[in-house]
Amino acid sequence: MKTVNAPSDKITRADTEKMDGNDPIAHLRDRFILPDGDIYLDGNSLGALPHGVMERLEVAVKEEWAHGLIRSWNDADWYPAPQRAGAAISRLIGADKDEVIVCDSISVNLYKLLVGALRMRPDRKIIVSEIGNFPTDVYINAEVAKMMGCELRCVIPEEVEQAIDEAGDNLALVQLTHIHYKSGRVYDMAGITKRTQDLGGLVIWDLAHSAGTYPVQLNGCNADFAVGCGYKYLNGGPGAPAFVFVARRHFETMNQPLVGWHGHAEPFAFTQEYKPHPTIDQMLTGTASQLATLALEAALEVFKDVDMNVLRQKNMALGDLFISLVEQELGDMGFTLASPREAERRGSQVSLTHEEGYAIMQAVIARGVVGDFRAPDILRFGFAAPYVRYVDIWDSVAHIREVMESGEWDQQKFKEKRAVT
Ligand SMILES: *Cc1c(COP(=O)(O)O)cnc(C)c1O
Repeated sequence: MKTVNAPSDKITRADTEKMDGNDPIAHLRDRFILPDGDIYLDGNSLGALPHGVMERLEVAVKEEWAHGLIRSWNDADWYPAPQRAGAAISRLIGADKDEVIVCDSISVNLYKLLVGALRMRPDRKIIVSEIGNFPTDVYINAEVAKMMGCELRCVIPEEVEQAIDEAGDNLALVQLTHIHYKSGRVYDMAGITKRTQDLGGLVIWDLAHSAGTYPVQLNGCNADFAVGCGYKYLNGGPGAPAFVFVARRHFETMNQPLVGWHGHAEPFAFTQEYKPHPTIDQMLTGTASQLATLALEAALEVFKDVDMNVLRQKNMALGDLFISLVEQELGDMGFTLASPREAERRGSQVSLTHEEGYAIMQAVIARGVVGDFRAPDILRFGFAAPYVRYVDIWDSVAHIREVMESGEWDQQKFKEKRAVT
């Protein structure tokens, strides 16, 4: 790929078309239904709709629900859908098939893991996390710390390792988001996991921006626990259930607090006493949101034979191209790069800051280039490698340039904040 920035050797639109011609996973785009004319750069918030999902839901509703009714839990294999979807995700995150299950939201699963993990380290009182972690992670960490009589130490990313070392033999738990939702910065999963475990602590990784974008190696890093999102890069649809990973060695010792009948060793024995299921099924609480689980399962077909290393190469290249074009085309327009410059340290998104970021993003969205805005001043562009093309990056930057040069962003209608940004 061309990364030369000298004015004499500018990147052209034709260059980006050539990159698409050489893209080994360009065909994956055909697996999605995408709105004509739009350039969708927000797969990091809500993934696009894969072909096959509507069809699967139609069968699930019209046949399995309408006609099969209660029989469909068995006859249509509804009941094991959380395990099947978990198994499909496991390959993408370097886990065994039976160490991952789909249920609830990240927030709820994080609660289960935090309490469960702290119960495994009753004599240790410190939880280390990051200032600026995703809000749900921060809120739940803080609440669980309070409830369990622990101290939550949130530090800036550069000080995480030091905070781990300082906690020493009082370190119970480290909870981090592998790829940051705003900056896209990537943590060293293997290094932090080992550092924590050498001190006797446990780690919970949030893979919201990693699953489906990055060749995560949970078992390769000896990870303890993880959660991740179904509706972002896994394309499971709005509010799709999340997934949860527990390393097999913790199945016996981990006791999560949201005990419900679906996590019971024998859910249909209807016993008085709770007895946790000996497998990953113990992470379940109540009945699955079945239609949503089936939608996610169908969406995961997209990734069936995808080599995650190849996909990762593409999203790094898309990000590099975007940054080079921002420098080439928007150099003096007040944008600052808010993501790491080196692709290896950056996830599947590039964030820019600009003091008029909100209005600029609304004006760009009005032109059909859909990114998003994160307070206070971040314009976020997500590059879901299965469906974003190199030429889309060229066209997006051209739109941003036009919005800036014409002053199009500077209108009242683009400055009014809406409920969801
Ligand atoms: C999107 C996201 C979540 C979402 O949590 P839900 O409870 O599933 O809505 C959590 N953590 C991070 C880091 C995220 O990016």
